[in-house]
Amino acid sequence: MFNKVAVITGAGSGIGRATALLFAKKGAKVLVVDLDSKEGSKTVDSIEGHGGEARLVVADVSKASNVQRMVKTILELYGRLDILVNNAGIFTEGSVVETVEEEWDRVLGVNLLGVFLCMKYCIPEMIKGGGGVIVNVGSEAGLVGIRNQVAYNVSKSGVIALTKSTALDFAENNIRVNCLCPGRVLTPLVEKVISDSEDPEATRRILSDDRPLKRMGTPEDIAAGILFLASDETPYATGTVLSIDGGYTAQ
Ligand code: NAP
Repeated sequence: MFNKVAVITGAGSGIGRATALLFAKKGAKVLVVDLDSKEGSKTVDSIEGHGGEARLVVADVSKASNVQRMVKTILELYGRLDILVNNAGIFTEGSVVETVEEEWDRVLGVNLLGVFLCMKYCIPEMIKGGGGVIVNVGSEAGLVGIRNQVAYNVSKSGVIALTKSTALDFAENNIRVNCLCPGRVLTPLVEKVISDSEDPEATRRILSDDRPLKRMGTPEDIAAGILFLASDETPYATGTVLSIDGGYTAQ
C-alpha cells in the first residue's frame, strides 16, 4: 500500500473515513472525496495529524462533470491513480408503492450511477498506469431482499452486478474489481435511522440483536475488509463479493 494513490469516495464520514485513516496509516496517499467539505476536511486533518498524506476533493459522485473534475485533480496532484474505493452511498426506506420516482432516481443516482461513473472515468487512467484495484462497497441488502428498502436494495444488487461485469471486462488490463458487502454498521447513516425512530433505545437493541454476533459492526470492521481486497494480499481475487456482516447473510 506504501506510496499508492488511493481515491476513497464518501470519506467524510463512517466507513469511508475509517478506510481513509487506515489506508493512510498503511502509507497510501489518500484522496478524500466527499460532498461535505467540512467533514471531508476533518478526515484530511486527522490523517495529516497522524503524519499521513491526504487531499480533499469535493465532488458529487452522481454527476459526470464532478467525477471528471475529480479525476483531473488526482492526475494534477499525483499523475496516477492506483486504488479506487467506491464507498459513497445514501439510504432510504420505502416499498415499491411508497417510493416516489425522484427518490428512486436519487438513490440509484448516488449508489449505482455514482459507482459506474467513478469506474468509467478512473479505469482509463489505471490502464495507462499498468493496472489498479477497485473495491465497491455494496451491502447485505445487495445479497438478500430486505423489507421496505426497495430502492436501496436494488441499488446494492446493481453494485454487485457492476462489480462482476467490470471485473471480467478489465481483468486483462490488470485491474481487479471486488465488492465488500457490509452488514449493519454503526455510522451516522444508521445513527439517523435510530434517532428518527419512535423508541431509539429499543431500535438500537433490535438492530444489534438480529445479528448472529449480537452487535452492529464498526466502521473499522469494514475498513479492514476493504484494505484486504485493495491490498497485495489478494492478487488472485477479482469479481468476488466479501460479506462482513456479523453472520447476517449466513442465516
Ligand atoms: P455515511 O456515514 O452516511 O457516509 C457516507 C458519506 O458519503 C457521507 O460523508 C456523505 O456525505 C457522502 N456522500 C453521500 N452522497 C454523496 C455523493 N453523491 N457524492 C459524494 N459523497 C457523497 O455512510 P456509511 O454508513 O459510512 O456508508 C458508507 C457505504 O457503506 C455506503 O455505500 C452504504 O450504503 C454502505 N453500507 C453501510 C451500512 C451501514 O450499516 N452503515 C451497511 C451496508 C452498506 P453527506 O453526509 O454530505 O451526505
